[in-house]
Amino acid sequence: MEFNSRFGDIAENYLFAEVANRTAKYAAAHPGREILKLGIGDVTLPLAPAVISALHSAVEEMAHSETFKGYGPYEGYSFLRESIKNYYAEMGVTLSESEIFVSDGAKSDLGNILDIFSTDNTVLVPDPVYPVYVDTNVMAGRKIIFADATEENGFLPMPDPKVRADIIYICSPNNPTGAAYSVSALKEWVDYANRTGAVILYDAAYESFVSEEGLARSVFEVEGARTCAIEFCSFSKTAGFTGTRCGYTVIPSELKRGGLSANKMWFRRQSTKFNGVPYIVQRGAAAVFTPEGRRQTGENLSVYKRNAALISSAMDGSGVMYTGGKNSPYIWFKCPGGLNSWKFFDLLLERAQVVGTPGAGFGKNGENFFRLTAFGSEEDTKKAVERISDLFRQTV
Ligand code: PLP
Repeated sequence: MEFNSRFGDIAENYLFAEVANRTAKYAAAHPGREILKLGIGDVTLPLAPAVISALHSAVEEMAHSETFKGYGPYEGYSFLRESIKNYYAEMGVTLSESEIFVSDGAKSDLGNILDIFSTDNTVLVPDPVYPVYVDTNVMAGRKIIFADATEENGFLPMPDPKVRADIIYICSPNNPTGAAYSVSALKEWVDYANRTGAVILYDAAYESFVSEEGLARSVFEVEGARTCAIEFCSFSKTAGFTGTRCGYTVIPSELKRGGLSANKMWFRRQSTKFNGVPYIVQRGAAAVFTPEGRRQTGENLSVYKRNAALISSAMDGSGVMYTGGKNSPYIWFKCPGGLNSWKFFDLLLERAQVVGTPGAGFGKNGENFFRLTAFGSEEDTKKAVERISDLFRQTV
């Protein structure tokens, strides 16, 4: 017997586990100091009342034999898939219900989708980016190449005709940089994928933060995407479902390679390894799309957007180079004083008692950058911004 030795090729600690370790060590050594956490991308506001009410009703349904639900459809209940379909229609995107698969979150599907791809495929991953794309492919043993996201290209790499890849990850708005592709820039990726036969895995977990005209919220806003793209989305950041767990994956029926349909393969994969998202949770997710649900989750998003604007304003006054914060809950900035990102992590923790995320955890291009999130409470964000501004005055 042998375990998968490729696990030896990934960093021992998942990025956020290392952040938590260092923070816990500092807290133990300095009891009584208030530590403000703008590190991990977890939300802090409770679920919207419309969602809570739907969850309660669904729990009640489970208590009576006439309304009790056992195993549900692998791909999700129709009531939720129809709401998702209508949501896309508002963006001008036509989907059929059979192209929508309800999931327990984007992270699982982003990892699990690899089951339908050959391990011989070469993968193109932006650098920096959400670490899950690299780690899942290292575990599976695929060859990984990188597309550099740098200050020079506005953190939005474009296709290089000299580079050949079979699977292309795009995360827009990007975690960690906050950079978001316009529909016209995405069209270049879609054309490239259609030309070369590659498949785009498009992570739209932050689409609800897009506020500028012309920026894409779905890859399917781009003409031609139905033959080359899969989209992953989540209720986590849109509606505070990080602990409740629900998302969805869209696989168009036209996405075929070598006579095989990605949609059919995914259905086959899910029906073999997944037994669906709890009925109760799907009822809660469907409530996000009701008028009250939209209004209430929109109010929560506004809180996070105000926090993002507040953090951005601290950057504006400091002379520090930064990006994000407009169409994203993330602010990405260059560490002052030329520090590397883990050094700056320690400095920020020790001098300001603020926890952020070191850019190095997102790829080599993140080495001298740092990420702050807008998902904290308004009160904590205000305090953190004051402390960071003070620190910048001393170090920049
Ligand atoms: N995709 C990106 C880019 C993320 O940043 C995250 C979470 O931080 C996820 C996916 C995971 O989303 P979920 O909570 O739906 O698994």
